[in-house]
Amino acid sequence: MPGADAIVPPLRELASHLSELVATRDFHPPGHCSFTAQGGPWPPHCVIATPGAALHPDIDAIAYVIVSKGTDPALEQYSGFDGTGLGDLLRARGVRRVIIGGLATDYCVRATALAACREGFATTVVLDAVRAVDLKPGDGDRALDAIRSAGGRVCTQAEILRASPE
Ligand code: ZN
Repeated sequence: MPGADAIVPPLRELASHLSELVATRDFHPPGHCSFTAQGGPWPPHCVIATPGAALHPDIDAIAYVIVSKGTDPALEQYSGFDGTGLGDLLRARGVRRVIIGGLATDYCVRATALAACREGFATTVVLDAVRAVDLKPGDGDRALDAIRSAGGRVCTQAEILRASPE
C-alpha cells in the first residue's frame, strides 16, 4: 500500500512505552479464498514462505508475539482476534487496554478494533499508524467512525503519549 512504511515510526515510538507488543499478520496459503483467482476480492498477498508474508523488519525486531491469521485456505480472518486466541492471550497477561495500528484501516484494523471492543478491551486506534485501502472513497473514515461508535478511541500517537506516558 502506498505510504505504508510511514506507520512504522509511530508504532515503534508507542511500543517503546508499552509493556506488551503483539504483531498480527495475514499468513495465507497459496490459493487462499480471498484471492481473485479463487473468487475473492484481493490480489494474492501475504503468501506463506514468500517475502510478502514477512513482517516489516522494524516491527519484527520488537514484536514478542506474532499472531497469524488467514492460514486456513477457506477462511477470511480480517480480525486478529478471529479464531486466534488473542483475546485469551491478552487477558492472561493482564492486558486491559489495546492500542492498534496497521493495515488496512478499512479491513483488518477495523475488524480487529471492533473485536477488541467486543472483547471488553479499552481500545484505541492510532490515527497516524494506519492507512486505508479506500476502494470506495471514505471507507477509511467510515471505518474509524464505526470504531468510535463501538466505544473505541481514535488518537494520534502524540496524543496517546501526552495522555498517558506509561
Ligand atoms: Zn489477507
